[in-house]
Amino acid sequence: MPFIAKNKQTGDRVNILEYQNPREEFQKGDLVCLFCDGELIIVAGFVRMKHFRHRQNSPCKSDYGRHPESYEHLFFKKLLSEKLSQESSEYLNAEPILEYPIPEAKRIADIAFQFPNGWLVVHEVQLSSITTEELQKCVV
Ligand SMILES: [Zn+2]
Repeated sequence: MPFIAKNKQTGDRVNILEYQNPREEFQKGDLVCLFCDGELIIVAGFVRMKHFRHRQNSPCKSDYGRHPESYEHLFFKKLLSEKLSQESSEYLNAEPILEYPIPEAKRIADIAFQFPNGWLVVHEVQLSSITTEELQKCVV
């Protein structure tokens, strides 16, 4: 359940959390998966957190490793991306990048913080059964 899509027209990353009414901002078919270019739909209700998803009959075709994400997982990804720089002065000037692709490991990091001097620090929300060993393989 990604927060990030790609604008099919411009190639830009689209963070659904930055849009109050994403269905008004984008035409149907404009938003595609970062990894397989498949069409994404917007899920935005009164209770559930806004996110994108592939159509039920058209799952993601990318070979990136994925694990199902619960709403709790989405909640903590959002919280971490928004609050870490407020909680830690070390992260004050770092840019949070949700769903950061790591092509070398065919993984998608929950959040990467890009520091002005080039450092990249990846954070994973650990509510699933990914082992520490699997996470270590993502270190590149
Ligand atoms: Zn996809």
